[in-house]
Amino acid sequence: MPNAYFNIQEPKNESYLSFAPGTPERESLKKKLKELKSKTIEIPAIINGKEVKTGRTAEVVMPHNHSHVLATVHLCGEKEVNMAIEASLEAHKKWSVTPWEERVAVFLKAADLVTGPWRDTMNASTMLGQSKTAQQAEIEAAGELADFLRFGPWYLSKIMEDQPYSPDGMWNRAEYRALEGFVFAVSPFNFTAIAGNLPSAPAMCGNVSIWKPSIEAVYSNYFFMKILHEAGLPDGVINFLPGEGADVGDPALASPHLAGLHFTGSEATFNHLWKTIGNNVEKYHTYPRVVGETGGKDFIFAHNSANVDQLKVAALRAAFEYQGQKCSAASRMYVPESIWPALKDGLVTEVGKIKVGDVEDFSNFMGAVISRKAFDKITGYIDYAKESDEAEIIAGGGYDDSKGWFVEPTVIVTTNPKFKSMQEEIFGPVLTIYVYKDDKFEETLEICDNTSPYALTGAIFARDRYMLKHMADKLRNAAGNFYINDKPTAAVVNQQPFGGSRKSGTNDKAGSVINMLRWLSMRAIKETRVAPKDWRYPYMG
Ligand code: NAD
Repeated sequence: MPNAYFNIQEPKNESYLSFAPGTPERESLKKKLKELKSKTIEIPAIINGKEVKTGRTAEVVMPHNHSHVLATVHLCGEKEVNMAIEASLEAHKKWSVTPWEERVAVFLKAADLVTGPWRDTMNASTMLGQSKTAQQAEIEAAGELADFLRFGPWYLSKIMEDQPYSPDGMWNRAEYRALEGFVFAVSPFNFTAIAGNLPSAPAMCGNVSIWKPSIEAVYSNYFFMKILHEAGLPDGVINFLPGEGADVGDPALASPHLAGLHFTGSEATFNHLWKTIGNNVEKYHTYPRVVGETGGKDFIFAHNSANVDQLKVAALRAAFEYQGQKCSAASRMYVPESIWPALKDGLVTEVGKIKVGDVEDFSNFMGAVISRKAFDKITGYIDYAKESDEAEIIAGGGYDDSKGWFVEPTVIVTTNPKFKSMQEEIFGPVLTIYVYKDDKFEETLEICDNTSPYALTGAIFARDRYMLKHMADKLRNAAGNFYINDKPTAAVVNQQPFGGSRKSGTNDKAGSVINMLRWLSMRAIKETRVAPKDWRYPYMG
């Protein structure tokens, strides 16, 4: 046991590299891209620290060049899940009682590996496997991932410090235990950082986990497993099980040892997992903690006092960066008639300048969408708008899947505020705008609040301070991450803890103390110094 109180200094957010022409990081990243592309790797499952090859495989391709195979991944099923449960429960015996400072030392080291010797690999693998530009990879596969790995330990240290009051004659203590059992971490394709954080945050708290990565992000996620190994994470603490959702999900959720679900992905998947847990509730030794961040239909709402140039830049970045595949991406916008002509001209001109293509060409602002399935879904919305007499496509609208799954940045203007693409999560580079009459401001605010089932992110634009306050009040529950005169994307760990409510999830705020608390089970300990000798109370005299 430690003979001192150890503490962690408050971390700083990782700074981002620019990759501007002539910088050493640009050359170094290009070299890594070339190196990774030159070989096809095999991605095994990792159970109890050992590579497991199941023989059932799938190909991992580059979304912007889908004939290029980056890896073959081994897919897991019930047998591997059972092996992983056994390994994790064995690892739990030691890991859950390892002092917190020893546990977090592993993740602090992993953070420095991510931002140091592995930075190029994390960025290049995220670019190639998930079709992110250098900048979009850097801010999350290096920056946000390292932030999660540095701030999590710091939050945990603050939680440990929090102790109850002790009146005279007793000592009250709080102990923050790991959950009994394993945490099932299920990650989405769109953020390498989120994928890394889902099993890591519970592990910092002493938990063990089974991590099911998305097959569409398995390439970068596998390199993160290698980083954890190099950082000294003991075998069995995080087990890496790529696979089709239900093949891994069903046996994992059927285990009596399930202690928690740490999920990020779509609403439909989360609903399914929650229902399955509900149906299995009698089997579990403990009530599983269910933490899930899901979809969004994120908005930008402009008042007629808004600065049009700021509004335009926010809309372009928020709607089209990473091809609109951020859970926070702006996908619906409300603009007053009086400023619409100025905004429309600017938007159409600027969208025309956006280059879409191979992410290795650094002049491109957008790559391809993640998969054939995503391409079909997104282009389905575009075709629907093309055919509708309630909508007009004023920019973009084209797509081409011959080499990669490319979709142009597309702006739809609709006369119906409840138009399909104003309501449903598209998860692609499609922004739908509803132009409202200035004197219908109040009604339109109401519509914005109740158009979608989600409440993840939203942004309001105005110069008028009274209006900003009024809009923020009216839209209080419309977004868990709310932006004033800024785009609704790019939340930073420890600055804007991320998550939404309504159908956007449990709002347990990834990258915050709230999330860490979900992976701890408090034991309250009372110790009496001098115990009473008589069972009778004075009032009985
Ligand atoms: P998805 O729901 O298709 O998949 C997420 C994960 O769930 C994948 O690993 C998938 O294989 C797995 N899965 C699917 N069925 C399963 C089952 N039966 N059992 C176990 N696992 C199963 O989501 P996606 O396409 O990877 O990601 C996009 C979605 O994620 C969007 O809806 C987006 O809004 C959301 N998202 C939300 C946040 C947030 O913080 N709110 C962040 C990122 C992404």
